[in-house]
Amino acid sequence: MRVRIRWHELGLKGGNRSFFVDRLRKALLAACQDLPGTRVKVRDGRMYVEVPDAVPWDLLQERLARVPGVANFARTRVVPAELDALRAAALEELGGGGFASFRVRVRRADKSFPLRAGELEADLGSVVALATGAAVDLERPERTLHVEMARRDALLATEREPGPGGMPVGTGGRVLALVSGGIDSPVAAWRMIRRGCNVSLVNFHAFPLQDRTMQDKARELARALTRWQGRTRLFSVAFAPVQQAVVAGCSPRLRVLLYRRFMLRIAEALMPRLRARALCTGDSLGQVASQTLPNLAAVSAAVQAPVLRPLLGMDKAEITADARRAGTFEISALPDQDCCQLFVPKRPALAATAAELEAAEAALDLRGLVRDAVYGAEELRFSFPPERVEVRRHALCP
Ligand code: ATP
Ligand code: MG
Repeated sequence: MRVRIRWHELGLKGGNRSFFVDRLRKALLAACQDLPGTRVKVRDGRMYVEVPDAVPWDLLQERLARVPGVANFARTRVVPAELDALRAAALEELGGGGFASFRVRVRRADKSFPLRAGELEADLGSVVALATGAAVDLERPERTLHVEMARRDALLATEREPGPGGMPVGTGGRVLALVSGGIDSPVAAWRMIRRGCNVSLVNFHAFPLQDRTMQDKARELARALTRWQGRTRLFSVAFAPVQQAVVAGCSPRLRVLLYRRFMLRIAEALMPRLRARALCTGDSLGQVASQTLPNLAAVSAAVQAPVLRPLLGMDKAEITADARRAGTFEISALPDQDCCQLFVPKRPALAATAAELEAAEAALDLRGLVRDAVYGAEELRFSFPPERVEVRRHALCP
């Protein structure tokens, strides 16, 4: 089976294009690496994935639909340029029925075939109509069979299936995303993956003050996101010591913002070993008290690293739709014990300043708390396909 892969070419010129094409080729190979015999070919500026016919189309479809950089893809079939072979192939593609209307579109790149395009469309159309009872509809058919006639053979393609679009993983640099068990942050990570970034994850949990549900969800989310990028590193960080220090030493109205600043600092300390260039969070402007513009700025001021917030301008419905697409929604919807639900004040600050937060932090052993959190982090490495998880306990101990 041969599948034609299309990408959006906008803005891809010169050397950028070959870099992009090479990364896409590698990403496609990686997504199918457990399907023996898979090959990716680039010919005349066209990209094809070839797999043995024994590979189920559903399975291949599932894989290709999750390779960032793929705009759309279509199964193609090469048959001899003979009427009988074309009729048989048309029946194999559409003869199963299950649709009310269809059309056949023929393009003749080579004009040696005795039938004109319109004649061949009518011939193949009547064969399919007879077999399925479906009507020919040239305007808005449910299904379309594309036939491209070459000199010796013909290329048949069914509908284009949508890919995720975006850019191939590995073209955008490395990012470390802060992922809670909520709906938003996994979507933020997913958006950066689709934009071509390699995204690692860090999750903060309050075990043993709370149960392990948060850690379990973070793992499941990492697993789901790995479907889109092949490999994911997840750092699991114990946050209870930080929370206890903040609760004991600082004003309740600043608590959540101080937690956030610690999360960013700890994440920033993890960046060098990941060669990450930016952090990423799931903040959406105004969604909760800690996500007002002044508060976001005061939180970001704790670190030098850029903090990407890809959901800032999205509303909850849009984010939820993305979460369903990314395959993270069902996981996020499970109940958990979010570490930030611990010791939440009644009246949180709506417009704190960085100076105010720094003053509050003066009472704390910042460096010690960050260092202990980093050293105690547990790392998990996920890969797909085939699905694997590798645990590295206290991988960061000196
Ligand atoms: P989410 O749905 O991702 O929890 P949210 O809109 O509920 O996001 P908050 O809970 O206020 O927002 O958290 C803001 C951001 O801080 C999150 O999107 C996430 O990036 C980060 N964050 C919050 N809690 C954690 C945590 N326990 N571990 C890792 N990151 C966290
Ligand atoms: Mg949350």
